[in-house]
Amino acid sequence: MTICEILPATDAQDPALALLRAGQVIAIPTETVYGLAGDATNGVAVARIFEAKGRPRFNPLIAHVADMSMAESIGIFDPLSRKLAEAFWPGPLTLVVALRPDAGIHPLATAGLSTIALRMPRGFGAGLIAALGRPLAAPSANSSGKISATSAEAVRADLGEKIPLVVDAGSTPVGLESTILKVEDGGLRLLRPGGVPAEEIERVAGRPVDRHRRGNVESPGMLASHYAPGAAVRLCAGEVGPGEALLAFGPIRAKDADKALAILNLSDGGDLREAATNLFSYLKALDASGAKVIAVEPIPMQGLGEAINDRLSRAAAPRDMPLARS
Ligand code: AMP
Ligand code: MG
Repeated sequence: MTICEILPATDAQDPALALLRAGQVIAIPTETVYGLAGDATNGVAVARIFEAKGRPRFNPLIAHVADMSMAESIGIFDPLSRKLAEAFWPGPLTLVVALRPDAGIHPLATAGLSTIALRMPRGFGAGLIAALGRPLAAPSANSSGKISATSAEAVRADLGEKIPLVVDAGSTPVGLESTILKVEDGGLRLLRPGGVPAEEIERVAGRPVDRHRRGNVESPGMLASHYAPGAAVRLCAGEVGPGEALLAFGPIRAKDADKALAILNLSDGGDLREAATNLFSYLKALDASGAKVIAVEPIPMQGLGEAINDRLSRAAAPRDMPLARS
């Protein structure tokens, strides 16, 4: 069991930095709700976020930045997105923009998407990110399915056994998550209502916000096509067929693995956290091998295995079909 410390924000920057540099996750106050923060460039840290939350699914996380130059080193801003960032940052607005391929964000944080959700928070988080010099992935600091925490004590009551530090800055001023917005074909799409009212965004942008819901807030993860590689994906493979690539897991190989067009092992030792960090990049690499089919060895349905299997079953689903909500 982890010993969880609560430190006032005034004393917490150095210990927080040390933990983040070591790839740990900690809870930090932001103006919206408490965030479960980890270095967005470190796959193990990002895997720990999903693990601590007990999320059954890898949905893309918001990357928090310290300033505009950090934001521009990660995302490509069209003029309208830049205007909104200038008007509302720091603050409770998240903008989804194109991801720079060389941004260094770990693919587990973006769920392998070519876009990224960016936000510049106010307060303790802003100073922490500037001192770290790297963006923080930080979903709400609560177990999956529970409501967001707006006080340090609420975080400790929920996640205290899983994280080493909660930074306390009292109750969060906004108390609800950020508004998520995406500029699409020159128009504005509201992906999640939140701390900045859509009307305020419309006033600054000088155009209407499309509030029409297309599926769930977690929309990117809901569409098979967002996740699907070019190759077909075959799950629970006990053997490798002709011309297939193999996504392996653990020490025991599928039959005819030596005939695979390419093999990558998510974790030789069968470690699910390591497997999670390799998942998106290995799928991409095997897709690039030219194989028509990627066979995937069975992955246990425990801990992060549930989210890994969720992601893989989306990749294996028939293309262009929306998946049922889960
Ligand atoms: P949180 O759990 O507060 O970090 O919220 C993350 C939210 O941002 C989820 O609902 C995601 O679906 C959404 N999100 C993150 N990245 C993207 C993206 N690239 N495109 C669309 N939505 C995103
Ligand atoms: Mg949440």
